[in-house]
Amino acid sequence: MKEIDEWVTGKVTISIGGAPVDMQMTVPATPVTVRRMLPVFRQMTNSFVGVGVGAAEADGKSISCKAGCGACCRQPVPVSEAEAFDLAELVENMPEPRRSEIKARFDKAFGHFAEKGWFAKLDGVAELDKEIRHEVALDYFSEGIACPFLEDESCSIHEVRPVACREYLVTSPSENCSNPTAASIDMVPILAKPSTALCAITQSKTKGTSVKFVPLITALEIARQYDEDTTEKTGESWMADFFSELTHSEIPGRERDV
Ligand code: SF4
Repeated sequence: MKEIDEWVTGKVTISIGGAPVDMQMTVPATPVTVRRMLPVFRQMTNSFVGVGVGAAEADGKSISCKAGCGACCRQPVPVSEAEAFDLAELVENMPEPRRSEIKARFDKAFGHFAEKGWFAKLDGVAELDKEIRHEVALDYFSEGIACPFLEDESCSIHEVRPVACREYLVTSPSENCSNPTAASIDMVPILAKPSTALCAITQSKTKGTSVKFVPLITALEIARQYDEDTTEKTGESWMADFFSELTHSEIPGRERDV
């Protein structure tokens, strides 16, 4: 990837759910692919989630999620295409034997769900009602297949984990996460869902289908099968696209959407 040597810092105020949110961001001044914007989107997600955590704590709740608890890392994690290519490159750049170990986990997980026919269930799932989407997610969860990056029940790529993983924090007892239902899981509310906005602005290969995201375990397959979208825009232009999607994104429900 080429070096970015020009940056621009600006302040924006966006309205999310009727609430004004002030943000200061530093973004590339020259055209870049959306993948170069991922650190900005991750940081922004952390800020949104931080506001939600503050609100939950002000309500007397505490966050149950901690290192060593990876129950939610057995859910189908929705990532954007840009994140899929980024994860594939991350794995490709790992030293051996770790690279081969992680690749083997991806291949095993992908093969398992392909054989089960789970990917076929995703087709059209966005148009189905929430209960059916939840069932599709539970079908995946019930297989007990951990994310390829989960090690000792902790995320081994915590600093660069996907945006969707950052959004998922609960205040309900951690033991409830091994049998997640709408009633048993109390998620930290966030003002808007950056993962949805990111999927929308990076969606190209899945365009024209109703699937608006890429399951994390398909990341290496995506990178093998497709060329990455190399559209370049300035940081400000990517942010404009992102905020446009973000301000229309729904307030998240109590369980992760599929
Ligand atoms: S990337 Fe990390 S946080 Fe996200 S599901 Fe995988 S192990 Fe869990």
